[in-house]
Amino acid sequence: MAHHRATFAEINLKAFKHNLQNLKTITEPATVLGPATGIMAVIKADAYGHGAIPCAKAAVDSGVDYLGAGIIEEGIELRENGITEPILILGSIFPDEVADLVRHDLATILCTPHLAQALAKEAEKQGKTMNVHIKVDTGMNRLGVLPENLLPLIKTISNLRALKIEALSTHFSSADDEDTSITTQQIELFQKTLIDLQKAGVTMPALTHLANTSALLRFPESRSKMVRPGLILYGALPSPILKPVVEEICQKENLQNFQPVMQWKSKIILLKSVQKCQPLSYSRKHFTQRDSLIATLPIGYADGLNRNLSNNMEVLIKGKRAPQVGTICMDMILIDVTEVPDVQMGDEVVIFGKQGEEEIQVEELAKKSNTIPYEILCNVGKRVPRVYNG
Ligand SMILES: *Cc1c(COP(=O)(O)O)cnc(C)c1O
Repeated sequence: MAHHRATFAEINLKAFKHNLQNLKTITEPATVLGPATGIMAVIKADAYGHGAIPCAKAAVDSGVDYLGAGIIEEGIELRENGITEPILILGSIFPDEVADLVRHDLATILCTPHLAQALAKEAEKQGKTMNVHIKVDTGMNRLGVLPENLLPLIKTISNLRALKIEALSTHFSSADDEDTSITTQQIELFQKTLIDLQKAGVTMPALTHLANTSALLRFPESRSKMVRPGLILYGALPSPILKPVVEEICQKENLQNFQPVMQWKSKIILLKSVQKCQPLSYSRKHFTQRDSLIATLPIGYADGLNRNLSNNMEVLIKGKRAPQVGTICMDMILIDVTEVPDVQMGDEVVIFGKQGEEEIQVEELAKKSNTIPYEILCNVGKRVPRVYNG
């Protein structure tokens, strides 16, 4: 392995492929007669911090049907790195981005006639037919066209020869909520909307897609023609509510559980004895309770370690949990290693991941910093090298 910074994120692409394979097994049709459910691997935000290009390549190797990017820049990055599979820009685009969209053969979410017209004009200019995915707003009230405005939009697009409606889609606001009725209502509204379209004589597009991680696991009826998993590909769960669900599915399908793809690691850069009752780090938010052995690590909030975790997180050293102490700095944190035997400078430290028999999951850090695993992973900073194995 080439030399890299002591603080790094280890990305296990084997685990990523394993997770994808699990999803394929889970979403396979119940009978040989039903068409297989397609998979759009969501790799927006640099693949949730894991690196868009390596993850996209691993996804393509595993045979996904579509890749989901967040913004057009991410789609272009994939194209410029040789990815030729279909790519959808999940966050839609601005009218002044149509030229780039067409040039790079990217599909976009679309919900206004204005964008449809701008895109059609540019597609004609470049002599191409562009796939668009219409998003129906079934309750998220974010991107999407309301069901009552859908038919006029489809009519407008049907008159634009350079556009092809490849998919109708929607997005769930609450698929990991305790209350399942919100998602059920969204599914029903989407289905009713499709039926209304058919009654109005609209031919159905090749694809319909609704489900994110939580929905595809908790609401099998939402899987439809294609699913859009993100977080579960990276081996994390959107909320604790998914844990028993995933365990039951894996047991039923005889699958090994989903595996975390990223581990975040660092090294002790300095070990120091600090006497009892001494303050540690900025603003003296922690005082040693006894004569202590304190380790300094070269990782801080500039690397994406949330400062709100100060005095409220643990790391693994020598396979043991040790508390972080004092305020988290921009480039450094302090760990109380008094109770860890045989610690040395240069020892590896795990921020999240496995060491020996112990494990710290992103879910734990998310809970402690009052956020969700998504944000913990996405926040792992730009200056943290991603080191790939598998
Ligand atoms: C991010 C995103 C997903 C993936 O969500 P996960 O909860 O990570 O599975 C699916 N669909 C859309 C529209 C998204 O923006």
